[in-house]
Amino acid sequence: MELLSVIVPCYNEEENVFDFYDELMKNATFFEERKLQVEILYIDDGSKDKTVEKVKELIEKDKRVHLISFSRNFGKEAAIYAGLLKSKGDYAVMMDADLQDPPSLLPDMFLHIDNGYDSVATRRVTRKGEPLIRSWFAGMFYKIMNRISRTEIVDGARDYRLMTRQVVDAILAMTEYNRFTKGIFGWVGFETKWLEYENVERRKGETKWSFWKLFLYSIDGITAFSTVPLAIASIMGVLFCLFAFLFIIVIIVRKMMFGDPTSGWPSLVCIISLVSGVQLFCLGIVGQYLSKTYMEVKRRPIYLVKEEI
Ligand code: UDP
Ligand code: MG
Repeated sequence: MELLSVIVPCYNEEENVFDFYDELMKNATFFEERKLQVEILYIDDGSKDKTVEKVKELIEKDKRVHLISFSRNFGKEAAIYAGLLKSKGDYAVMMDADLQDPPSLLPDMFLHIDNGYDSVATRRVTRKGEPLIRSWFAGMFYKIMNRISRTEIVDGARDYRLMTRQVVDAILAMTEYNRFTKGIFGWVGFETKWLEYENVERRKGETKWSFWKLFLYSIDGITAFSTVPLAIASIMGVLFCLFAFLFIIVIIVRKMMFGDPTSGWPSLVCIISLVSGVQLFCLGIVGQYLSKTYMEVKRRPIYLVKEEI
């Protein structure tokens, strides 16, 4: 018998704990045929509702269910890391508790694993049910990201992924604090099969991602997997120096040919405000990387466990 670890990050998902379990267990016959044992790891990411109680109820009924409860909300990336770290399976799969990652895809995924792929990933081809502006920004993010990063980050990729122990260990070897999971999956490589499916809307409860949270997350992603913004800052500096140099020559020549009329205050103000804007912008970019480095060198734990069953 082989073991499959199902990792379910939960943040305020009391309504979905049981639904998810039921949906997953619809694969029971498949698990039997494929000779798979399952362990289900609910990672409670500091929920403020009854998620923990619900999972405990479930544990009473089924010993294959496990609970890891964080001391506070550490974010989904931390939950995934904890799940992978605690998983014992020959295979591991991450799934959202809200059933946006349909467990019915599992048999298909195993088909590809058995054909020799190391991991099977999913991407949604539609974003229906999502605000248009959000889709547009997401599209832009993936376009920019793939331009400036050597790690491939697939548009519409979900965190729903089945992988072998070898891939799990590779991911666990990346112990960085700023965990941009989509980038980490791409970075480790291995043979990956992509399955496509239509977006499924969240079953119950509501999304934990506001637009602002997503925006900050996209900056995390960029700083974690690209240093191109730093290069852009330097290039802008060089361009402005060149421009200044030419400008100096023009001014000197003009002074020698036409004397020194004391005009030019408006243009001076424009130049000063433009250049100081660019300077602050570049300083901000450097600051972003510095802050990430700062958090990284502190070597704080990625998550803290309050309770584990
Ligand atoms: N999640 C989490 N910690 C967080 C935010 C979300 O563990 O800080 C979990 C959440 O419970 C869900 C999954 O991550 O199982 C995806 O979250 P959500 O459905 O809110 O995101 P969306 O599908 O809207 O992108
Ligand atoms: Mg969701």
